[in-house]
Amino acid sequence: MAEAILFDLDGTLFDDRQYIRGGLRNASSVLAARTGVDLTDELLDAYFERGCTESTFDTVLNEHGLSTELVSELVDTYHDNHADLWPFPDTVPVLDALTDSCRLGVITGGTNGRAKLDRLGLTDYFEIVYVTTERDSSKRSPAVFESALDAFDVSPTAAIYVGDRPALDFPQPNRLGMTTVRIVRGRYANADATGDARPDYAVDGLDELLALADV
Ligand SMILES: [Mg+2]
Repeated sequence: MAEAILFDLDGTLFDDRQYIRGGLRNASSVLAARTGVDLTDELLDAYFERGCTESTFDTVLNEHGLSTELVSELVDTYHDNHADLWPFPDTVPVLDALTDSCRLGVITGGTNGRAKLDRLGLTDYFEIVYVTTERDSSKRSPAVFESALDAFDVSPTAAIYVGDRPALDFPQPNRLGMTTVRIVRGRYANADATGDARPDYAVDGLDELLALADV
């Protein structure tokens, strides 16, 4: 039986495309105010249809002959979005079912992790919330996972890590001997999960976690 379950946040407890859309819309409004050009549809299309998920602002501004001087302000505005965020439909029922029998935590690399949890109404479920950027760390290092196991005083074999992005979420927990569970949905549903990124289990929804955790 699992004693502790640690969750990734973006794409695992909520569909982070809500946040991304809100961010791109927020940045677009600032861009329009500064340049008079509305590129909302172009930015959404670049990110979600063309797979341009890195340097999206640089790419789209260049394509429209606009200066990239505004990019840092657009990135700040992106993360300053206040779009409504909702957990996945199974998130709250599963956390309710786990909370009395397992110790629960979050390990996220996402910007504004704590604020997102608050906006989702999920903060009170978690005994620990580790945001790797606050710790000058990353999920590519074992340190944040080891710290969480220490904080819970559990052995790796009694702990589960749940995530949606195999290459980022599973190599370190796998090496430590934690049980890894992939939620196959959202942006990384088709991502490769081989080698050290291979999870112990792949499931379609969080509700399947209850049987895996044996609670
Ligand atoms: Mg994720």
